Amino acid sequence: MPKNKSNHTHCAFCGRSENEVPMMLTGLDAAICSDCATQAHSVVQSELERHSTHTNTQHSAPRRKGNSLPRPQEIKAFLDQYVIGQDDAKRTLSVAVYNHYKRLRHKEQAGMSNDGDEVELEKSNIIMLGPTGTGKTLLVRTIARLLDVPFTIVDATVFTEAGYVGEDVESILSRLLQVCDYNEAQAQRGIVFIDEIDKIARKQDNPSLTREVGGEGVQQSLLKLLEGSVVNVPPKGGRKHPDQEYVHLDTREILFICGGAFEGIERRIARRFGSRTVGYNSVRNTARVTDETDFLRYVEARDLRAFGLIPELVGRLPVITALRPLDKEALRKILLEPKNSIVKQYTRLLAMDGVKLVFEDDALDFIVEQSIAYKLGARGLRSITERIMNEAMFDAPDPTKGITELRVTADYCREQVAKYAPPV
Ligand code: ADP
Repeated sequence: MPKNKSNHTHCAFCGRSENEVPMMLTGLDAAICSDCATQAHSVVQSELERHSTHTNTQHSAPRRKGNSLPRPQEIKAFLDQYVIGQDDAKRTLSVAVYNHYKRLRHKEQAGMSNDGDEVELEKSNIIMLGPTGTGKTLLVRTIARLLDVPFTIVDATVFTEAGYVGEDVESILSRLLQVCDYNEAQAQRGIVFIDEIDKIARKQDNPSLTREVGGEGVQQSLLKLLEGSVVNVPPKGGRKHPDQEYVHLDTREILFICGGAFEGIERRIARRFGSRTVGYNSVRNTARVTDETDFLRYVEARDLRAFGLIPELVGRLPVITALRPLDKEALRKILLEPKNSIVKQYTRLLAMDGVKLVFEDDALDFIVEQSIAYKLGARGLRSITERIMNEAMFDAPDPTKGITELRVTADYCREQVAKYAPPV
C-alpha cells in the first residue's frame, strides 16, 4: 500500500493523502479516493454507452430490452393505441413486419454459424389498398416508430423514367439515408413507404404510340429496388449525373410497403365473384348487388395486375392487405380515442392558456358529418376542427377576455365553419 512520509495512505490516481480527501477506498496494494472513483465511474459509463450505440448500428434487426423482437401481438397492441379499427390490416402488417425482422435476425445467425444448409427466407414486401385518409401512412409510420428504424415516405407520382424531367427512383434511398444521418448500415434496414402506387399503373388502352413517362417505366425501375440489389444512390437526391459520387446501398433488407387507393378495383374483384357493385354501369342484369367496399378485402395479385401493375412488381409485393373506409363511429373514435387524438391535442393546447375545453357530443357529430361530406376520411377531421377552433385559439390567450372555459357545441361549430363559406 503506497504511504507518504507521514505514513498516510495516498490515492494512486491523484496522489492526495487520506486526510485530504472525503474518503479513501483501499485495495490489496493500492488505494483510490472517492473523488477519483466517482470520476472513473462516469468515464466507464460513457465508454459503455458509446460502445453499445456502436454495436447497435452494426446489427440489422431492431432490438428491444432482452434482445427480443416485438411479437405480432405486441406490434398490434401498439398500433391499437394510435390507429382506430383496420384490424385485418393491423394483423397482416404485424405478422409481415415481424417476419421481415425475424428473417434479418435469422440471416445474422446463419452468417455467424456459417451453416450451408440454412433455409433462405425470402423478403416479403407489402402492398396496402384503401381509400385516402383511412390510416395507411399512419400504420406504417407507427410501426417504424415502434421498431425505431429509419423510415421515409415517398410519392410514386414524382418519379419518371430516367431521361425525363422528374426524380429518379434512387432518390427514395437518398431520403432514407438522410433520415439516418447517412448511416448506410441503418438505412439498409429501414422501411420505405411508397404512396400512390396505383397512380403509376399501366394505362390499359394505351396505344403505345406515345410512350408513357410515368407508368410502366417507373414500375420497371422500382422493381430493381424492391427485388433487392446494390443501387448507386446520389447522396443528396435529385437526378443522377455522371460526375457524381454515389453511395452503394444494398436494398435486400429494406422493407418496402406500397400504398394506394386503387379506386374502382373493387369492381374488378366483384366481377371475379360474378357480382356487380353498386354504382357500376347498369345493375339491372346482375344477380346480386353488394356494397362495393366489401370486396376490397378479397383482393388478390391478379386484381392488381388487372388494374395495371406489371406482373413482376406484383410478384415482389406478396403481402396484400386492404383498409376499410372509416364509418361515422370510427371517425368519432379517431377524434377522441388515440393517444394523441385531435380532441386531446386541442384540449392540451387550450389548457396551456388556462382554458378548459369541452366538446359537446353534437359538436363531435357535426365534425364527423362534415368530414364524411368532404370524402376526406379521417384527413378532414383535423382541418375542420382547426377551422372551428381558430377563433377560440386567437382569443384564449388574451387576458382582457378572461376566458376560463369553452364548451364547443354544434351551433358554435356551424357558426365558425360558416365564416369560411363563400357568400351566396
Ligand atoms: P392514408 O395514408 O390512408 O391516406 P393517413 O394515414 O395519412 O391516410 O391518415 C391521415 C390522418 O388521418 C392521420 O394522420 C390520422 O390523424 C388520421 N387517421 C386516418 N386513419 C386513421 C385511423 N384508422 N385511426 C386513427 N387516425 C386515423
